[in-house]
Amino acid sequence: MTTTAASGVAHDYEIVIGLEVHTQLLTASKMFCSCGARYADDAPNSHVCPVCMGMPGVLPVINRQAVEYTLMVGLALHCQIPEFSKFDRKNYFYPDLPKGYQISQYDLPFCRDGYLEIQLDGQTKRVGVTRAHLEEDTGRLVHIKDGMGDAYSLVDLNRAGVPLLEIVSEPDMRSPEEARLYMQKLRAILVALGVSSGRMEEGSLRCDANVSVRRRGETKLGTKTEIKNMNSFRAVQRALEFEAQRQIAEIEAGRRIIQETRGWVESKGITVSQRTKEEANDYRYFPEPDLPPLTVAREWIAEIAERLPELPDARRERFIARYQLSAQDAEQLAADRPTADYFEATVAAMTRGDEPSRAKAAANWLNGELTRLMKEAEQEVADLKVTASGLAGLLDAIDAGTISTTQGKTVLERAFASGEAPVAIIQREGIAQLSDTTELEAFARQVIAANPKAVEDYQRGRTNAVQFLIGQVMRQTKGRAKPDSIQPILIAQLDALSAE
Ligand code: ADP
Ligand code: ZN
Ligand code: MG
Repeated sequence: MTTTAASGVAHDYEIVIGLEVHTQLLTASKMFCSCGARYADDAPNSHVCPVCMGMPGVLPVINRQAVEYTLMVGLALHCQIPEFSKFDRKNYFYPDLPKGYQISQYDLPFCRDGYLEIQLDGQTKRVGVTRAHLEEDTGRLVHIKDGMGDAYSLVDLNRAGVPLLEIVSEPDMRSPEEARLYMQKLRAILVALGVSSGRMEEGSLRCDANVSVRRRGETKLGTKTEIKNMNSFRAVQRALEFEAQRQIAEIEAGRRIIQETRGWVESKGITVSQRTKEEANDYRYFPEPDLPPLTVAREWIAEIAERLPELPDARRERFIARYQLSAQDAEQLAADRPTADYFEATVAAMTRGDEPSRAKAAANWLNGELTRLMKEAEQEVADLKVTASGLAGLLDAIDAGTISTTQGKTVLERAFASGEAPVAIIQREGIAQLSDTTELEAFARQVIAANPKAVEDYQRGRTNAVQFLIGQVMRQTKGRAKPDSIQPILIAQLDALSAE
């Protein structure tokens, strides 16, 4: 380093980030009882039983599907899956935890020592995955202010006992952007596997971000803080940006970083202290006595590995090789399984041109116009009323010149809103482009008759008069005529006039 010590610029520091990600698993029932795990739209405490309410004398039963989902994630993250695993009790007291402990995994998690790859500036970077273990979610507190000045909290145990997978990364990320990319890639993998809804905004995918800073060249890790409460990818990045700068400012001011948990306040764009190390819980972990240790059969692992679906990285590479998509288009499409499926279905349903040119059009419209419409309407591909074959029909019509690109956008907007097939809209509204020569000739005659000045200009050799006349025909036809087909017709008529 050539910079002088204490020069005080952020550049002198390296940011170090490790993420702890929790995701609810999309099982039919809860982790240790037969209550339904999908409670989102249901009344509070309608998915409860003595087991998930923590009544005395009940016994948990392990959800095999949740274990299988965990192993799928472990394999997808290139983890080692030890033969032996067990559950442990993590003891702490909080009103949303009816048993007074959470069943989790301590020293023998299902998955360990894996990695995940992110793409940054055209490079692939590997981020280590320390472990992935299975536990149960807690209940929720609903805080009420009753208008009479009283405030109290209600307990909803629908969420208590829902299978929760925790994936812990190594402190391998070096910028808030890398952390966001890691989170997005992890979500893509979980969604591709079909084990998670991936919805951060609903809290079914959550992230605790650990961050520290150190002087460049320093090999020891700095003191970290842990940030909670981010419910979007953007929030993860913003919270880390704020927190890293705060830590640098603290150190520059001669203060020490306190190891603590901080909450992200989205509305203010800041993190605030929630609790310090001194207040941290001592969880007194011990092996869960009500559950047997598990042997994870090698044949089971092999059989699960066999059934793994195509994962986002592999899909991106296939999109580049097969459809000749740009790396960026391929990355964007492959990152979300429903989007990738929709893209491939569209390309398959298109009938014109070769596969790469169909793919190019489908990628452009999906990543462009359709993404814009979905953002505006806060929709996802799964909510789309326009089917893949509907979009294919639209793109074929544009390719055939039946309608212009601009018209295509209008048709797509209508189809997006109503669900009517684009091809049906084109036919019903008669917005197909005018390609009938006799009709075009009639429009050209009208325009020439109405614009003697432009005709004169043309005869004096001013060729841009033709552009003007083309514009007039476009106006007359309300954009239904293509300039390419009008031009020769106009020129033929103008030349015939001059010859008279
Ligand atoms: P704790 O004991 O506080 O839970 P762990 O060692 O279990 O800490 O790590 C929790 C998470 O914090 C992991 O994702 C890890 O990569 C990350 N982490 C650990 N130390 C640091 C550090 N100094 N700076 C940034 N992240 C860190
Ligand atoms: Zn239950
Ligand atoms: Mg830890």
